[in-house]
Amino acid sequence: MDPNQLHPESIAAQALGWVDEKTRAITPPIHLSSTFLRDPDNQYRSGRVYARADNPAFDQAEALLARLEQGSHALLFASGMAAATAAFLALSPGDHVLAPKVMYWSLRNWLMNFATHWGLQVELVEMSDPAAVQAAIRPGKTKLVWVETPANPLWTVTDIAATAAIARAAGARLAVDSTVASPVLTQPLALGADLVMHAATKYLGGHSDLIAGALVSRANDDYWQRIRAVRAQVGATLGSFEAWLLLRGMRTLFLRVRQASASAQRIAEHFAKHRHVEAVLYPGLSDAAGHAVAARQMQGGFGGMLSLRVKAGAHTTAQAGAQGGEAAAIATAAHVELWKRATSLGGTESLIEHRASVEGAGTPAPADLLRLSVGIEDAGDLIADLEQALARARA
Ligand SMILES: *Cc1c(COP(=O)(O)O)cnc(C)c1O
Repeated sequence: MDPNQLHPESIAAQALGWVDEKTRAITPPIHLSSTFLRDPDNQYRSGRVYARADNPAFDQAEALLARLEQGSHALLFASGMAAATAAFLALSPGDHVLAPKVMYWSLRNWLMNFATHWGLQVELVEMSDPAAVQAAIRPGKTKLVWVETPANPLWTVTDIAATAAIARAAGARLAVDSTVASPVLTQPLALGADLVMHAATKYLGGHSDLIAGALVSRANDDYWQRIRAVRAQVGATLGSFEAWLLLRGMRTLFLRVRQASASAQRIAEHFAKHRHVEAVLYPGLSDAAGHAVAARQMQGGFGGMLSLRVKAGAHTTAQAGAQGGEAAAIATAAHVELWKRATSLGGTESLIEHRASVEGAGTPAPADLLRLSVGIEDAGDLIADLEQALARARA
């Protein structure tokens, strides 16, 4: 069979079908060496010198991810934050960048604090509104437009193709944090993006047992070489065992993401008109603001992330000063039995968290919002647990 004709499910299940040449092992060995032998004539024909820059433990996972994202190259990083910040540190002080008002909180903090001190001109825009992006972009001066879709924690959807066209016309690159969509549901490079970022900690790894990040590039250009240099020189290098775990997780990526998306859709529809729920934020709901764009650029589901805004309960006791919907949300999280109260997302187990408590002052997360990461448990069990928790939170 022509390997280029295989479906991505087949490619992922066999992690590209690579077999260890030496042993014929179906799963790869874990290379732990920090250094590589130099040839007697002082050359490095293997292409590998030192594992901070060139670790063979990364090869298969990087090649698989590049293939799934339809990119030319991929790089693994020590975390999602290391990957994302490398994309900005490969720019130059003085460059102007656009980022979304609603985005992953830690990266927003880094942009507003570290990146601005380092010299980037960071401007936050309503990224889901192409007219706002068009108005803010400065041709020749803006070097990078950063998109996250669907975006934490409101699951706002940004039209990647429309935003890429605006960026390209102004001479800027477009990068997409595609952690939540994963390559199963969206391929940003095919929609015109230049760079894709993943917190591989989440769906790619998929088992809440590693911290990792990745970037995938459309082109092997100067910018990509600078990103490669940032990884090697800053030392944002993933460990070999984590790279091995990541590759193992990616073999089941399609099954996990499709199950999580189908369950999230069911949970969103179940609670959309619920008496204890003010609103459900999920791009798969037909009346969601971003639904039409999401239906166009996501295939096979709308992802496993949604948020519930909880209605105030007459009898909810105020906890630590929280009142109304906030107290009801915190009390609901307190009463779940199957869902786990924890931050992060994309694992096999479903997680619930009161997002405003995590993000703190200045968060765009409403105080009554619970962020849900849907895992691969039975959707009926997840719904029943939320039902009893919502009821007990106001008993
Ligand atoms: C978790 C996450 C990150 C950061 O990844 P880490 O591996 O935790 O550093 C970035 N973006 C999104 C959307 C995330 O969910």
